[in-house]
Amino acid sequence: MSKPVLQLWINGQRTNSRSTRLADVTNPATGEAIRQVPLASRADVEAAISSAKMAFPGWRDTTPLRRSRILNKFRELLETHRAELAQLASEEHGKTLEDAAGSVQRGIEVVEFAVGAPHLLKGEHAENVGRGVDCHSMLQPIGVCAGITPFNFPAMVPMWMFPIAIACGNTFILKPSEKVPSCSLRMAELLKEAGLPDGVFNVVPGDKEAVDTLLTHPDVRSISFVGSTPIAKNIYETAAHHGKRVQALGGAKNHAVVLPDAELDFTADAIMGAAYGSAGERCMAISTVVAVGDVADALVAKLKARAEKLVVGPGDKKGVDMGPVISAQHRDKIVGYIDSGVTQGAKLLIDGRGIKVAGHEKGFFVGPTLFDNVTTAMTIYQEEIFGPVLIVLRVATFDEAINMVNSNQYANGTAIFTASGAAARRFQNEIEVGMVGINVPIPVPMAFFSFGGWKSSLFGDLHMHGMEGVYFYTRTKAITTRWPEVAERSASTLTMPTLG
Ligand code: NAD
Repeated sequence: MSKPVLQLWINGQRTNSRSTRLADVTNPATGEAIRQVPLASRADVEAAISSAKMAFPGWRDTTPLRRSRILNKFRELLETHRAELAQLASEEHGKTLEDAAGSVQRGIEVVEFAVGAPHLLKGEHAENVGRGVDCHSMLQPIGVCAGITPFNFPAMVPMWMFPIAIACGNTFILKPSEKVPSCSLRMAELLKEAGLPDGVFNVVPGDKEAVDTLLTHPDVRSISFVGSTPIAKNIYETAAHHGKRVQALGGAKNHAVVLPDAELDFTADAIMGAAYGSAGERCMAISTVVAVGDVADALVAKLKARAEKLVVGPGDKKGVDMGPVISAQHRDKIVGYIDSGVTQGAKLLIDGRGIKVAGHEKGFFVGPTLFDNVTTAMTIYQEEIFGPVLIVLRVATFDEAINMVNSNQYANGTAIFTASGAAARRFQNEIEVGMVGINVPIPVPMAFFSFGGWKSSLFGDLHMHGMEGVYFYTRTKAITTRWPEVAERSASTLTMPTLG
């Protein structure tokens, strides 16, 4: 039976794609295609860019207060439609409904931040920078901005980007993951209902063809990307080569360092949610535990006891802790990593391969998996698995643990579990990672702080949301002003002007 086919969102309306290429959108819990999505062609994306370019002057000249009121109305609509968005995210991604609702909430918080645009866009002013001379700065929008987002947060990651871009007076083109397009298209409708003028926000689901058009088109001024490291690096290099401002967030391998003085039940509970929530498909998931000194045996026993109790099933069923992973291909990749861990000599304590979920035999499930005695030479340590696989490495000292985290190519998030303020203080000071938790397993900063990793986890200079988001989506202009009295006018001079 033919499946419903989604459309693009261009110039404030649903628009048929000119592309003949369609992709299945699959419910990972059943393994069945539930709808199809057009993969936007170059011509589709050019139409979206043209619409965003036309809308820009009017939106730029709309006062920040009016822009903010529209976003505030959008925020209200998001609250009203939170369950619907969570259902769409859960259906296309596989995560539990509760987890999906939590991620929609984190997106709403970015809209709450963006509603402060009139305050956020205030520049600086200094009187008498020279005799009779004042200076002020303004934050102005940059034009047509684009966002390219991953499959794992269908609503939240797009909301890291477009609310702030729009609040700052830009127009926006979103290229969501072709695996989870529905939340983005629904949010476009809600923005229109909130009063957003046509063309300010456009959605073009697609693949490389759509992305390449955005990266190379002269009318696109900035690219925000979230996804895997190899693609992030390529996006950064290509878009920068074409003169665009870029922030490209990549993959992760987040370590939790557990010191012998940590409260172990609290720590094990915290690590459970961080490792297996969303089936490990979070860029801030804890995938690696570094057990320091003699803590390892007791900690591993507690992790094992808890992980064995996790209930795996479809995300919309009550009582389920962990849903499926995104696709059959991704499930097979994760299983391949588990195979390699066994082959390379790690100790497999819980094996998630071959799990069967009654009534969902075609779903893409991997059960919680736990490895002990992993070493840094093993593939399961070196690469991002992005699944429900937690590995434990044992080290003798805190120095070794810090050195291990700092030697890893990824540097998105990390956490330390300890009762020692001195150890925590040393960790926050010396650790070379963008986001750090102290007895907090997933230290995702609130919307009024910025989100971003270091090293291979982020290419570019500015992080997402918070004031860094505002600076990313604006250009600073500095204006120096003098209103000379006639008597003060001096003769022209060819020397370098100095004030004072
Ligand atoms: P991905 O890199 O495969 O895809 C991300 C986006 O890029 C999608 O929109 C996709 O359509 C597009 N894309 C894929 N291949 C492309 C290509 N060759 N050329 C141009 N565009 C292409 O990532 P994913 O599988 O959707 O998401 C999982 C990854 O995202 C993980 O590595 C995870 O760590 C990362 N992630 C990072 C963060 C962060 O904040 N650092 C947040 C969420 C996810």
